[in-house]
Amino acid sequence: MALLRVEGVVIRTRDLGEADRIVSLYTREKGKIRAVAKGARRPRNRFASLAQVLVHGRFGVFQSRGLGTLSQAELIASFKAIRIDLLKTAYALSIAELYDHMMEEGYPAPELYGLLLSTMRAIESAQPADLEKIYVSFALKFLALMGYAVELDHCVKCGDESDSLVWISPKLGGIVCTACRLEATDAIQVSLGIVQVMRRLFRSNFRMVSSLRVQSRDLQIIRRAIRDSIELQLSSPLRSMDFLESMISGQPS
Ligand SMILES: [Zn+2]
Repeated sequence: MALLRVEGVVIRTRDLGEADRIVSLYTREKGKIRAVAKGARRPRNRFASLAQVLVHGRFGVFQSRGLGTLSQAELIASFKAIRIDLLKTAYALSIAELYDHMMEEGYPAPELYGLLLSTMRAIESAQPADLEKIYVSFALKFLALMGYAVELDHCVKCGDESDSLVWISPKLGGIVCTACRLEATDAIQVSLGIVQVMRRLFRSNFRMVSSLRVQSRDLQIIRRAIRDSIELQLSSPLRSMDFLESMISGQPS
């Protein structure tokens, strides 16, 4: 059996048998991989605190046919400030679930790994008021790296770059002009200001994102466009997204 050494973030766990846990890791070296953490549900097991969602660590995995077996785990970061904050947890889990859903096993993508880590760090140190901006900025970057970039510079139908770009069509993959809007059945009305904000959220690093001023009503419209864009790429809905949205709106889930 070959020992694979990887650095990664636990994006999902699932119980197996009496005391084991299957962990899904998103790793720098191999993309998504899964492994069995034997005995991880026993409190004194060496993997008990590491085989948990959102743990960033170094892992050794014995590869075999089928599922690998976790043989080593060393903590790099536990993102404690996320774990003790319910809203931060909801944002982070929704991102972890997105990675788990959209990534296939064994396809490394260092830029997507870098985005996952930088987003977790940004959430960890964020003020509550900045979380939504960070999430939206993450989602625009994530969609672009996955090959589903939301076009924000010209009409996706006719290429128009004028001031009439005030609609977004998740199905067509970006902004549409007033003339082309009738061909986009899912078009969401935005404003030039919102399009400009989306460009900045997409292109800025998270430190700059936190200092951007965005009206919460505009953020809600952007969230809707982004949620529709993400859901178009999913085979099944994300449970954590509903939880997150119920947290944001203050409604019990
Ligand atoms: Zn057009």
